[in-house]
Amino acid sequence: MRPRDHTKLICDIGELSGLFSDASSLDGFLQKIVEMISQHMHSEVCSIYIYYENSNELVLRATKGLKLEAIGQVKMKLGEGLTGLALKELRPVCEKNASKSLGYRYFPDIGEEQYESFLAVPIVRGTNRIGVVVIQNSQKNYFSDEDIKVFRAITSQLANTIETAKLLISFAEKVDGPVVLESSKSLKLVKGRIGCEGFSFAPAIVYEQSAMFVSPSSEAGFRQFSLEDFYRAVQETEKQLEALQGQIEEKLADVASLIFTAQILMLKDKSFLDAIVKAIGQGINPPDAVRQIVTQYAAMFDKLPNQYLRDKKHDVLDIGNRLLENLVGVIDAQHDFYGKIVISRRIYPSDILKFSSFGVTGIILLSGGVASHLTILAVSLGLPVVFCEEPQLLKLTSGTQLILDADQGNIYIDPDVDVIESFRNKEKDRDLALKLKADVKDVTVTQDGTRVFLMANINLLGDLTTARAYKAEGIGLYRTEFPFIVRSDFPSEEEQYLIYDKLVKGMPGKEITFRTLDIGGDKVLSYYDNGREENPFLGMRSIRFSLRHKDVFAQQIRAILRAGVGANIRLMFPMISSLDEFLEAKGCVNQCIEELQQQGIECHKNPLIGMMVELPSVIEIIDELADAADFLSIGTNDFIQYMLAVDRTNEKVADFFLPHHPGVLRALYRVTQAAGRHKKDVSICGLMAHQERFVPYLLGIGIRKLSVDARYLHKMQKAFECADLKTAQKETQNLLSQKFIRDIEDLLK
Ligand code: PEP
Ligand code: MG
Repeated sequence: MRPRDHTKLICDIGELSGLFSDASSLDGFLQKIVEMISQHMHSEVCSIYIYYENSNELVLRATKGLKLEAIGQVKMKLGEGLTGLALKELRPVCEKNASKSLGYRYFPDIGEEQYESFLAVPIVRGTNRIGVVVIQNSQKNYFSDEDIKVFRAITSQLANTIETAKLLISFAEKVDGPVVLESSKSLKLVKGRIGCEGFSFAPAIVYEQSAMFVSPSSEAGFRQFSLEDFYRAVQETEKQLEALQGQIEEKLADVASLIFTAQILMLKDKSFLDAIVKAIGQGINPPDAVRQIVTQYAAMFDKLPNQYLRDKKHDVLDIGNRLLENLVGVIDAQHDFYGKIVISRRIYPSDILKFSSFGVTGIILLSGGVASHLTILAVSLGLPVVFCEEPQLLKLTSGTQLILDADQGNIYIDPDVDVIESFRNKEKDRDLALKLKADVKDVTVTQDGTRVFLMANINLLGDLTTARAYKAEGIGLYRTEFPFIVRSDFPSEEEQYLIYDKLVKGMPGKEITFRTLDIGGDKVLSYYDNGREENPFLGMRSIRFSLRHKDVFAQQIRAILRAGVGANIRLMFPMISSLDEFLEAKGCVNQCIEELQQQGIECHKNPLIGMMVELPSVIEIIDELADAADFLSIGTNDFIQYMLAVDRTNEKVADFFLPHHPGVLRALYRVTQAAGRHKKDVSICGLMAHQERFVPYLLGIGIRKLSVDARYLHKMQKAFECADLKTAQKETQNLLSQKFIRDIEDLLK
């Protein structure tokens, strides 16, 4: 028997799956898989059968070794033959002498009779039966137990891709409905990058920067309206906005009150209303007057130097549309986002809050990266997000049905009944899986008894509920800036105190780490003009901003210290680049404590003060920093961004954002080593902390505390429970000795 290199096969299959992208490559893709497998396994036949739930049939879709005419012709019921049996019983079926086997089903004329060794491995995802891969060989007893094991690994690796392929086949065979895209008739599936997992089946709404006004029905368009009609529309709009505001108070208690501020303010703005009234007074029909003045205002916003402020024209257009809608009755409700999947070129973190409050069920973005703060916020809001580079999506007619499978990063356009059915089943599976998650334990220990602390990242107060449900052992990172970014002015010390107080009371007795204001980069304050920055991530960001604006910084620190009375709080500075910076920031905290005491205001007097490790510059001085700080927390999102010079928000360079780059792995090891030498607590709170494949590495370099978005707590607990410290340490040493990214990738698989 010829030797078979299983590792190479697994790698090649993984690579091939990664390359699979669109419908046109589907047949070739399946064919490549069977050819690759048969070549690696030195098997004479390899075939893929796809299972169709509706007909309960397996159909041959690709083969190497059997006659090609058999494709699409050979069919069998679930449970029929050895292939059907494998899928029915969800187990591999291996026969040394297939023709003598009772269950063997022989198909004349496809050239299969001389192959005696038979191995069928089901392709399954969750509880979804997807198909079967079959390999055959004329030599008896050809497949070993090892082959079966490896084959199971391969089919599970292929499951996602083949499931997609299966859906595509059903598109190709059954979709004969209207073409939904103007310029790409073949676009049925778009593959993107996962921003926030989840899925949604809903109509699309394209949120275009250029979107202007809703258009009246022809009847309403010719009607003459009065000034009274206009005032009534203003009142109605105000009521609607306030009602919307009220609806979301509960979900977004810390930020809700400010989401619609811009619109409400505008609606109350005398000069804006007066301009419309004046136009009406000049004989212009009120809907036209609204359009005219709103257009003028939008144009004024368009001229502003700051991109973020320029984009505020959406708020103006939104108000215009609401007014028009209330004036002439519901027309083409373009801005009715409820229950829709938004497709947009670009949005801001504050927009995502708005979308969530409008009842949007998913977001597709043509820019932005998976490590952006938009994504982080989407996780808090439970909004599925996919990033992709397909501009044609912006041409979709609003209302086109979409399935947004953000678990896989796939977007299905106008799916047919079978596809929808398959996603409904997935939905049920997910509900079941959520129920099963109730078994989360109070503490996390590895197989060998090593204790690991799983903390929650909190972005919005709403995350507390999830954090408690999944038994977070504390808050490892509270991103304090989110309440700042949706406001129209800096929140006062008192306003901040109220938010922080809720946070502290929401996690009684547990360790809570407040990260001080980290604005700038992709988190812009509409009310603070930073001037134009070509590279905001390298600009007046984070601790630089706080140290430049000590009054703002002091107000925040005071609010935290006051809310933290009697609680186990820690303060942490983001983006520290030097010992000088750290000590300066620490000095501000000490000064605030002194002042509060002098003023007789109750406050926490000795919180632990630590820093985030996010910049490469600190690696060389990590010993001094570990000595000065009470704790270190590694923010891998920024650390990777700055170490590898990859904009974390730029989808185009997302492939270069590599947590497993040897430089990153070794640098993080130096951080944990330094923390160990100085007996300081070290944790990790970037997105890398919730990627299961890094569990052995993190354990191996000495990480015992991780902070992840609350919804990942359970899966991380499971991952650590499967890990063993000694093995992890050995694997880590091996990883750290690698010099090529590719070799590290192989090891992490
Ligand atoms: C990080 O950079 O890894 C981090 C946790 O902070 P943020 O994502 O908020 O920048
Ligand atoms: Mg950061």
